[in-house]
Amino acid sequence: MLTDIFYSVIKNKCPQCHQANVFETNNPFNLKRFDKMHESCSHCGVKYEKEPGFFQGAMYVSYGLTAGWFIITWALDTFIFKSETWQYLTFVIISIILLMPLTFRISRLIWINFFIPFNKNKI
Ligand SMILES: [Zn+2]
Repeated sequence: MLTDIFYSVIKNKCPQCHQANVFETNNPFNLKRFDKMHESCSHCGVKYEKEPGFFQGAMYVSYGLTAGWFIITWALDTFIFKSETWQYLTFVIISIILLMPLTFRISRLIWINFFIPFNKNKI
């Protein structure tokens, strides 16, 4: 279900049981630890990295999220703010760099949820 995926991604929870955290810290802007993940769920035991290089696929999700950010900010700028091109480009480049830790984590959580479905019996 989409709500199960949404809950897991927003709350940083195991996609299978929704009990334990996937990333070690809940703060995506803790720059020393934002990318540290648990190897497996401490509650249900599911292994997050199913095979070596599993998370390379999350780059496609990251690409989609970043493209979506471009489109949304472009539409807002074109129809509402109407700033100069260099101002828009400066804003969008800086915002993408600043949002990178958040994009990284959301991409991985979405990617995991594609392959590990929620299972009520594992709660
Ligand atoms: Zn779990």
